[in-house]
Amino acid sequence: MKKGRILLVVILLIFVIVGTVRMYLKQPVQAEGYEEAHGNEVEDSIDEDLKEVDIIEEDSDIEEEDIIVVIEETQETEINEGNNNSNTATPPVVDNNTEVKRNIVTIEDPQDILVLVNKERTLPSDYVPSDLVIPNISFSFSEDLPKKYMRKIAADALEDLFKEATNNNIELFAVSGYRAYSTQKSIFEANVKRQGEREANKTSAFPGQSEHQTGLAMDVSSRSVGLGLKPEFGDVKEGIWLKENAHRFGFIIRYPKGKEHLTGYSYEPWHLRYVGKEVAEIISASDITLEEYFKFEYTNKDIY
Ligand SMILES: [Zn+2]
Repeated sequence: MKKGRILLVVILLIFVIVGTVRMYLKQPVQAEGYEEAHGNEVEDSIDEDLKEVDIIEEDSDIEEEDIIVVIEETQETEINEGNNNSNTATPPVVDNNTEVKRNIVTIEDPQDILVLVNKERTLPSDYVPSDLVIPNISFSFSEDLPKKYMRKIAADALEDLFKEATNNNIELFAVSGYRAYSTQKSIFEANVKRQGEREANKTSAFPGQSEHQTGLAMDVSSRSVGLGLKPEFGDVKEGIWLKENAHRFGFIIRYPKGKEHLTGYSYEPWHLRYVGKEVAEIISASDITLEEYFKFEYTNKDIY
């Protein structure tokens, strides 16, 4: 009996000592939240970024895009997380910050031909144009996909533009038109995974912020650039012809070179946006963007 008691006391003492030593060793490790949440220690050899990914991947409520956002954040986020002593990772805070900085509004009249969609003006996620049709033009692919569609008024105008191009020995191909909110979401998330959010958002839009969802945009290419969507399209005869003639049919090159800080996006000589002949003529003649036409300025100047 006595022997048993002594053994019990010794065992208890060992537990207390081990516990104290463990607490002491834990102090300098930054990812404290992780340890508390998961009850096991983070190996010192794992770098900080990987730890962040682990934290978030185990939270099923959080989107993939958030993972990258958190990785891109500086030490500040990591330190905050450590100090918060919270049991769960809190990436939505990052998202909220982005929204506050950008002062994003939801567009009330998405069906307006002159609708301005950009990084601070978002289309309702359930907006689908009611008059989508497939323009009778050449496409870079043959399947009947949603990206063949445009709104009727834009589709008619694009048919005229393509006819005029053919008359001038310019062979154009339509590559991508209407895009649903959900499709944009998948595309953007894939790009964020590949490039990180900041870079991804220079060439692709957040879901709800793509002009393709309006049914008024079409990406166009030519054989000379392998039917791809690349800046070189602006230097080949097809791209040059398009820039010089699109306005006659009510289209503008939406993301011109050197205007990235105004539009928020990289130069895209292939992206046509229908705005109607009157406005297209003004925008083309004054060499301005749709943002400038509306005297729109981003509240967050760090937009590109
Ligand atoms: Zn486009």
